[in-house]
Amino acid sequence: MDYSKKISTQVGAVPRSGIRDFFELVQGRDDVISLGVGEPDFATPWHIREAAIYSLEKGQTSYTSNLGLVKLRRLIAEYVEDFFHVNYAAGDEVIVTVGVSEAIDLALRALINPGDEVIYHEPCYVSYSPSIVMAHGVAVPVATTKDDGFSLKASALAKVITPKSRVLMLNFPTNPTGAIAPRKDLEEIAELCIKHDLIVLTDEIYSELIYDDVPHTSIASLPGMKERCVLLHGFSKAFAMTGFRLGYACAPAPLIDAMMKIHQYSMLCAPMTSQVAAVEALENGAKAVEEMKRAYHQRRDYMVRRLHEMGIDCHLPGGAFYVFPDIRKFGLSSKDFAMQLLEFTSVAAVPGDAFGESGEGFLRCCYATSMEQIVEAMDRMEQFLKSL
Ligand code: PLP
Repeated sequence: MDYSKKISTQVGAVPRSGIRDFFELVQGRDDVISLGVGEPDFATPWHIREAAIYSLEKGQTSYTSNLGLVKLRRLIAEYVEDFFHVNYAAGDEVIVTVGVSEAIDLALRALINPGDEVIYHEPCYVSYSPSIVMAHGVAVPVATTKDDGFSLKASALAKVITPKSRVLMLNFPTNPTGAIAPRKDLEEIAELCIKHDLIVLTDEIYSELIYDDVPHTSIASLPGMKERCVLLHGFSKAFAMTGFRLGYACAPAPLIDAMMKIHQYSMLCAPMTSQVAAVEALENGAKAVEEMKRAYHQRRDYMVRRLHEMGIDCHLPGGAFYVFPDIRKFGLSSKDFAMQLLEFTSVAAVPGDAFGESGEGFLRCCYATSMEQIVEAMDRMEQFLKSL
C-alpha cells in the first residue's frame, strides 16, 4: 500500500526533527560526549520523586479533574503571581497539561483557523513551526540576529504583520540561543500586538534559568497584555522533571475553556502521579532549583570563556542552558561542522539550522551536562579547530 497517500496532507508536510535525525547518528556510540539533548542532567530532586512514589503507595492512581488537581492549580496561580506578577484565577484561568508541548498544541488548535498566520522568532524551538502547520496555520518566522542578542525587535515584527496575522509566539529565554528580551523590546512588541489585535503565546519554560541577576519580564505582565496572552510554563527544565511530562497554561477563562475542550477529548487529564509531584515541587522545590541554576551558571561561564579562547564568536546567553556559537568563519555549514566534530572528536552538538534557516552558521551546545564532560568536550573541540 502507498501509505504516503493515506497520511494527512498536514502531517505529510511536516519534516522530521533535525535534532532527532542527528542524534540517531549518536545512538549506540558510547564514546560520545553529548552537548545535544536539551534536558537537565540532574535527576528530579529526591523529595519530589519521593512525593510521587508515596502517592502511588497510597493508591492515588485515578484520573483527576480535566483541568488538573485543584490544589495544584491553586499553587500554580500563586507561583505565577509571585514569579511573573500576573494574577490568574485558579478555578478557570489555569489548565494543567502534559508538558508545555501539549499546552502549545492546545493553544494553537484553539486559536487558529485554517490559513491564519502565526508569527514566531527564529532560531526557535523545533516544534513551533510543525505545531503551527499541524494546527492548519501558516508559520511566519522572523529572523533574529546575534547583533541584536537574538531578541525580537518590534521593527522586524512590524514587517511581517498582515491582516491574516492572528498569533505571536514568544520564547524568552530562548531555545536554542539562550536569548532574553530586554523589557523595552517587550514593551514595543506589546504595543504592536495591541494595535494589530494579536494573541500572544508566551513560552516561559526557561524563565527561572536567567543568570547575572537580570530580572525576568513576561510580556503577560505588561499593561493591557494579560487579556491577550496565553502564558505557558512547566516543570521540565527548572525542576528537572522532563519525564514527568507536566506543564500548564494560564489565560483568560474563555481561552482556557477552548483549550480545555481539546484537552478533555484528547488527553482527559495530565497524569495524577506527576501532578502530585508538581505540588511538592511548588511547595518545597525552590532551593533545589536555585542549586541547579547555580551549577548551570558556572557551566555557562566556563563554556563561553573556552569558546572565546578558541577564537569563536559567541554571545553571552542570558538564560536557559544553551550557548549558540557563531561558526561561520570556519567555512563549513552547520551540519558539516557538527558532523565533523562528531566524527573526529565524538562531541555531539546540534547544527543551528535544526532551529530554522536563521540558525545556519551556528551550533547549539547544551551545558546541562556535568562540568567534567564540558571540560573534556571543550578540550576536544579545541583540538578539532586546530585541525581545520
Ligand atoms: N518549549 C521550549 C522552548 C522547549 O525548549 C521545550 C523542550 O525542550 C518545550 C517547550 C517542551 O517542554 P515540555 O517538556 O514541558 O513539553
